[in-house]
Amino acid sequence: MVASAVLGFPRIGANREIKKVVEGYWAGKTSADEVNKVSATVKKTNWTELKQRGVDYIPSGDFSLYDHVLDHSAAFNAIPKRYHGLGLSHLDTYFAMARGRQADGVDVPASEMKKWFDSNYHFVVPELDNSTDFKLNYNKALDEFKEAKEAGITTRPVVLGPITYLALSKATKDAEAGFEPISLLPKLLPVYKQLLTELKSAGAEWVQVDEPILVQDKGADFEDKFALAYAELSPVAPKIVLTTYYGRLESNLNFVAKLPVAGIHVDLDRAPQQLESTIKAVSSGSYVLSLGVVSGRSIWKTDFTVAIKAAEQAVSALGQDRVIVATSSTLLHIPVTLASEDKLTAEQKDWFSFAYEKASEVATIAAVASGSQDAKVSSALEANRTSITKRRDFEKNSDDTVRKRVAAITPDQYERKNPFATRREAQKKLNLPKFPTTTIGSFPQTKEIRQARAKLGKGEITEEEYEKFIEKEIESAVRFQERIGLDLLVHGEPERNDMVQYFGERLEGFVFTQNGWVQSYGSRYVRPPILVSDVSRKGAITVRWSKYAQSLTSKPMKGMLTGPVTILNWSFPRADISRALQAQQLALALRDEVGDLEAAGIAAIQVDEPAVREGLPLRRADWEEYLKWATSTFKLATAGVRDDTQTHSHFCYSDFDDIFPSIQSLDADVISIEASKSDLKLLNTFKRYGYSNSIGPGVYDVHSPRVPPQPEISDRIKNILASLDPTLLFVNPDCGLKTRGWKETEASLVNLVEAAKAARQQY
Ligand code: GLN
Ligand code: ZN
Repeated sequence: MVASAVLGFPRIGANREIKKVVEGYWAGKTSADEVNKVSATVKKTNWTELKQRGVDYIPSGDFSLYDHVLDHSAAFNAIPKRYHGLGLSHLDTYFAMARGRQADGVDVPASEMKKWFDSNYHFVVPELDNSTDFKLNYNKALDEFKEAKEAGITTRPVVLGPITYLALSKATKDAEAGFEPISLLPKLLPVYKQLLTELKSAGAEWVQVDEPILVQDKGADFEDKFALAYAELSPVAPKIVLTTYYGRLESNLNFVAKLPVAGIHVDLDRAPQQLESTIKAVSSGSYVLSLGVVSGRSIWKTDFTVAIKAAEQAVSALGQDRVIVATSSTLLHIPVTLASEDKLTAEQKDWFSFAYEKASEVATIAAVASGSQDAKVSSALEANRTSITKRRDFEKNSDDTVRKRVAAITPDQYERKNPFATRREAQKKLNLPKFPTTTIGSFPQTKEIRQARAKLGKGEITEEEYEKFIEKEIESAVRFQERIGLDLLVHGEPERNDMVQYFGERLEGFVFTQNGWVQSYGSRYVRPPILVSDVSRKGAITVRWSKYAQSLTSKPMKGMLTGPVTILNWSFPRADISRALQAQQLALALRDEVGDLEAAGIAAIQVDEPAVREGLPLRRADWEEYLKWATSTFKLATAGVRDDTQTHSHFCYSDFDDIFPSIQSLDADVISIEASKSDLKLLNTFKRYGYSNSIGPGVYDVHSPRVPPQPEISDRIKNILASLDPTLLFVNPDCGLKTRGWKETEASLVNLVEAAKAARQQY
């Protein structure tokens, strides 16, 4: 029999239960017991659902209250010194590492977060050095395995593999020069040994060990480490299925197919071309081959014909018992279920599969590949054929006006008319002081704002009442910024449910879910729009609000748009046309919006591209092509403005080293960068390349509620100025403030403005 497997499951709950209970706990309104109770229910519901849908290998241990990488760090006692001795419970230490803690005399910043591979999921970066005292504080994989067992469900525990864990880690500040986290492998292996031994004694037959680092070029550097680690772990562990996902193994397959493990999983959604080579590589051994044919990254229904063909090819080479039909990756990246969507039309709903539905898909495909004659299986197969045919028919439609406009783009549309030096003179009309202070755009999305939006949705208030409410919010944001002395103002984005969804809703080409939440980090979930057809602008999107905001003040107002690459990367893209073409369509729509803002008297326009880096392909060989369309679409959106219009862009990351020429080529007048938690290496990169446009490296972390004291910000500015021309520096936070409360926002920004003022005196 061909078995079916799901590699990981959304851990947020079908109704965002985990967000609610965790945030309740942070607010001091919910007990740790309650957190455990709700978690137990969510886990059990998922396991039961997967079992009922016929999945053979059901994951456990992948649940998390914040992040699964952080779960490993906490369990492995990889707890940085600043979180020691605070007198906190295990759970509170865990959350302090995740989000910082500023209460009862304790004041510690959060750990750094990074984007997980090429996704919009953020993991908490482990910090290690030679003094890290690895030991197994508790065995989460074992606990959840037992928990499932008690509920009558046998699971296949999931752990993040030791090589990927170390490869994703960074050195602590105290680490010796040249320290590489991977050097700690010999110290970490005993912990994995214990973890896996305990799983085996508890009766786990299989364990899924995730090593996604193998789909990146640097995976190859660890060949020896892989050999060493798995030679030690395999003898004591349950049968290991070594799991790779999000991309292709390429030459890493050569050594992977020699590792002493029982099974190998490959991603055939992202890299269908590796089917043949993998079959060949594993055929002479006894490996089980797990085929990731059901996408864990996209929401489109799987084309069973394609998946079955792959499965049959593997079966004919290896036999049924050595083949598993699986999701390509964890399903963490897609919403929980389509069942609760009742606003999508029946036609649209028929195009998609979310996590529960994908679980049914793997089960059906595995059954077909096993030769099942079951009537239910045949009818599922038939239904899938019908759905896919209908979708292909729909995909034949296109918007000719949009297609023609894309085809007619000329090279001059990508370039500003004059160089930065000239524009900078013209932009003196903005009257900004030295070290201009600004924010990244959003202010707290308060309960009142969310309630007003909900009321509008339910028809409890009229459109006019809602707009009045938004105007009031904008006005108070403007007055606030004037009062504390910020220089370049923003309207605060109160009208936006989300920086991507808001634009999607105002563009042709998208559909939306009601409950399609996906975890971005911790308790922050997003609801990505779904691109289904060609994109065009229905009308001006943001002009009304920016114009209103500007009318309230004599200070310059910065217009605020989300860039084409980010809209694309934070949506579920179409699978029938290229990402490049989708981005070009978005860029043209945004170009019109930029033009309208300029015409409405907005002198600074920010186009956020926080997702450029996460969209970077996992293999370097694919970078050039991506960067070409990613940078050119940003330029297409922004370059049409006059010299005296100041363009801004914003990036939620700071490792620019390897893509710097692309960032430089964007030629934005000002770029703001998330930088407060990383070292300032990035400024040296800017210097090395002779970057001469303005830069705003974030001076404090916005992911944490902690208020940065003014001296801390002054210190940051001092460090920045050590390598940056003072005339280029903007002073701003790391990112938008929508997830923060007003109290900490106000206190933090007051400190920021004071620090900038002090700097004006000093430098
Ligand atoms: N302008 C957006 C905001 O301030 C940018 C957010 C982001 O970069 N993620 O919220
Ligand atoms: Zn950001």
